Amino acid sequence: MTAVAQPAVATRGPLDDAHEQLADACRVLGYDEGTMKMLAAPRREVTVSIPLRRDNGDIEVLTGHRVQHNLSRGPAKGGLRFSPHVDLDEVRALAMWMSWKCALMDLPYGGAKGGVTIDPAGYSEAELERVTRRYTSEILPVIGPNKDIPAPDIGTDERTMAWMMDTVSVASGYTVLGTVTGKPVSLGGSLGRASATSLGVAQIAFAALNHLGMAYDATTAAVQGFGKVGRGAARFLHLAGIRVLAVSDAFGGVWNPAGLDIPALEAHVDGTGSVVGFTGAQPIDNAALLTAEVDLLVPAAVEGVLHEGNAGDVRARLIVEGANGPTTTAADAILAERGVLVVPDILANAGGVVVSYFEWVQANQAYWWSEAEVEARLADRMTSAWHQVLAEAEALELSLRAAATCLAVRRVAEAHRQRGLYP
Ligand code: GLU
Repeated sequence: MTAVAQPAVATRGPLDDAHEQLADACRVLGYDEGTMKMLAAPRREVTVSIPLRRDNGDIEVLTGHRVQHNLSRGPAKGGLRFSPHVDLDEVRALAMWMSWKCALMDLPYGGAKGGVTIDPAGYSEAELERVTRRYTSEILPVIGPNKDIPAPDIGTDERTMAWMMDTVSVASGYTVLGTVTGKPVSLGGSLGRASATSLGVAQIAFAALNHLGMAYDATTAAVQGFGKVGRGAARFLHLAGIRVLAVSDAFGGVWNPAGLDIPALEAHVDGTGSVVGFTGAQPIDNAALLTAEVDLLVPAAVEGVLHEGNAGDVRARLIVEGANGPTTTAADAILAERGVLVVPDILANAGGVVVSYFEWVQANQAYWWSEAEVEARLADRMTSAWHQVLAEAEALELSLRAAATCLAVRRVAEAHRQRGLYP
């Protein structure tokens, strides 16, 4: 097993990948340079300072961003990330991918993303609450149920969303449930939202396996990331009879060639905070997991993990992108050349924003759906998007990523065209 992969080329980042994917789609669609530039440019970017009083009395100043990439199809929509790696270009790329994801899933939204450059592990709950509330206050003029609706992403969760909702509500003088999604169920969150991204990833993996004629009980998988996306994805794959041989988190990974006992691993993670040290498995590092001998690889952690330095060593036949932007453009080309089927992020991980949309609809109507109703509607959307992308890919002889991006970009461009250019 190749244990060490080359780092991605330092000068390139997710924004380069996002721009190249858009340029490819515009070429296929025959759009002119001006249209491409209009589709590439974020509509609005806000960068704010977040002065934080630490628990020990020290003052620290953090930086946060909110980028609204496109607003043509409706209010902006996208998560808020707390990570030490956040910078404006990363947020711009993630916002652009949200525009395409929402359009692909036919949600009445544009795309946005937020980020604060912070390692949440180094801060107390009270400090994180102050950061969240101050960040929310600073971006207050540009967010709201009809403007821009944040949701959880890496490093944030339903607790963060409850603080955001409360901050907006206090400023408004009344409770504004539709202002964020991914809230606790007791506070207007939707049943089924917490598992929606991972359930959608699994549903898309099943559709792709069926397409390739691969039986679930003969399929092995590796999942990178054991958080909001990877953990549930591993569970749903395991429940379907797929043998999950390897999983990892930020601290390391575990590997068992006979298949991991996922329920037991979940119990271990609940007890220790990491997959590391799980008995009945050998350690595996994150780089080795990506090139492990499995049929299905689910990168469900961060951007850029599959790059030109390791794409040639990937053994999986199918990659289902749980993370946003895990495959660089260079890796995409190598994987395509090698016949590896890559199901792109904007399709594979769209379950989260689909159920966010359901949460917003329920909040706006003040009428709550059952979990079965949410899951049935989610399955419908995921299956229908899969078939649309597959048909587009086959008709135009494109990769699934190019087909998904073309479908989405065409919908956004059509909204632009029909609205006209003002003034
Ligand atoms: N952060 C998730 C994503 O990248 C969910 C976004 C949302 O629900 O608005 O798709």
